[in-house]
Amino acid sequence: MREKGEGRKVSALPFSLLPSPYTLYFVRFDILTIFPAFFTGPLDHGVLKRAIATGLVDVRTHDLRAFTHDRHRTVDDRPFGGGEGMVLKPEPIYDCFQTLGITPKPTRDTAKETVILLSAQGQPFTQAVAHELAAVERVVFLCGRYEGIDERINTLLCDRELSIGDYVLSGGELAAAVILDSVVRLLPGVLGNPDSARNESFGTEAAPEKAALTEDGVPDSTHLSGGLLDYPHYTRPAEFLGLEVPEVLQQGDHSAIRKWRREMALAKTLRNRPDLLAKADLRRKDQEFLSRLELTEDDPAT
Ligand code: SAM
Repeated sequence: MREKGEGRKVSALPFSLLPSPYTLYFVRFDILTIFPAFFTGPLDHGVLKRAIATGLVDVRTHDLRAFTHDRHRTVDDRPFGGGEGMVLKPEPIYDCFQTLGITPKPTRDTAKETVILLSAQGQPFTQAVAHELAAVERVVFLCGRYEGIDERINTLLCDRELSIGDYVLSGGELAAAVILDSVVRLLPGVLGNPDSARNESFGTEAAPEKAALTEDGVPDSTHLSGGLLDYPHYTRPAEFLGLEVPEVLQQGDHSAIRKWRREMALAKTLRNRPDLLAKADLRRKDQEFLSRLELTEDDPAT
């Protein structure tokens, strides 16, 4: 954990809003976009809204059109070499970037400040990358539109290109919102219970006291995922449209519940994301369960 970086003082907030003992941690996000209003929705709800209100994060949008100098506030132009579509011009992006106070690329410490270009051509954004970004003090997102941005901006300003999936969006705004959301919920103090983020799908970062699996391969924590997908969740009523909540969850035997949840997580991962099993923290009991599943093709998580 690191100390607060520059920006808004968390201690200036009303004491009742401070999520003690996490008042020293703070991340600032800057989003460069031609559609700043796009972020009104994503920033105004749930976890993100609360994290901003309590001063744990500071999210600032920057309108690239404010950095144009012509009557039409032009941000795009035709591509050199011909072809379809338009390209975001470099000047407004560069001028906007200069106002952020980010260290120039050649001397930038990317563990503290990082500039991300959202791009379908980028490296895949994963939960591991979300954890990396959650440790950075300042994150800048550059949202492309049209056919993308002038590549010289990537060369001059950006540290990495990230893609949120193998499909093409109309703009980087949705991708920036996705990344922002998944990073913010990892920050200390943002979720009421810090274990929530550790125990979800893809979670590999265990609280030290809960990291161990018992000899029989059942996690010590209630439901540490160990790189697997999450197990299925149920709430009341116990019966809904003829479907009962699994009996084991209603009986209060915590060891049996942990075992059931582990097996359901394994079954769901095998069914939906078998690629994750190769990297997951699997014990003998897990392997045996998976072998039995593969033999019977009887998927209890279905
Ligand atoms: N010509 C680009 C290509 O084929 O890779 C697609 C440009 S796309 C229509 C416009 C912008 O949307 C991109 O510049 C990028 O910022 C964003 N974008 C599209 N798909 C994305 C993805 N999968 N992940 C992140 N950003 C994406």
